[in-house]
Amino acid sequence: MDTINRPGWIEIVTGPMFAGKSEELIRRIKRLEYAKKKVLVFRPRIDNRYSLDEVVSHSNNRRKSIVIDAAKDILPFISEDTYAVVIDEIQFLDHELIPLSEHLANIGIRVILGGLDSDFRSEPFAVTSEMMARAEFVTKLTAICVRCGSPATKTQRIVNGKPAHYLDPIVVVGAAEAYEPRCRHCHEVLGKAK
Ligand code: ZN
Repeated sequence: MDTINRPGWIEIVTGPMFAGKSEELIRRIKRLEYAKKKVLVFRPRIDNRYSLDEVVSHSNNRRKSIVIDAAKDILPFISEDTYAVVIDEIQFLDHELIPLSEHLANIGIRVILGGLDSDFRSEPFAVTSEMMARAEFVTKLTAICVRCGSPATKTQRIVNGKPAHYLDPIVVVGAAEAYEPRCRHCHEVLGKAK
């Protein structure tokens, strides 16, 4: 990353599930903590896979975070000594995240976003796509395809042992279903033309 003399910018860490996005966010948080910078960490309430109040990566590395229902809930926590704002799972947040992130960056805050770039159908999440365009720094991580070992950029959803159907709801919280990383060639969506 090039040197920036004026603070305040947007960075985003994105990719499919199992690519290490939360690990990467935690790495950036740790570096700022060592530097004694004040960092606020947020995540939407809808993501309750593991814990309601912590950013948790799949390897169980965790950081305290503030659970929000909407992007605007972030503003009251901002104070003069806020150096960075980290928001994980942004694909679950509303479009208010866009002007809010721009505002925070413009007033000198480092905004670090994490989230999926596309859903199980391999369709982009609108909020993530827009923030990738607006960010100064985009890190797109890949996982490893469980079928063929190629770089995986897609999240495969499996319901009852079969690939999910295109018309299935995008967000099913707490459903008994499985996800795995796959490459574009091995990714399957029933009912979707390839
Ligand atoms: Zn593959």
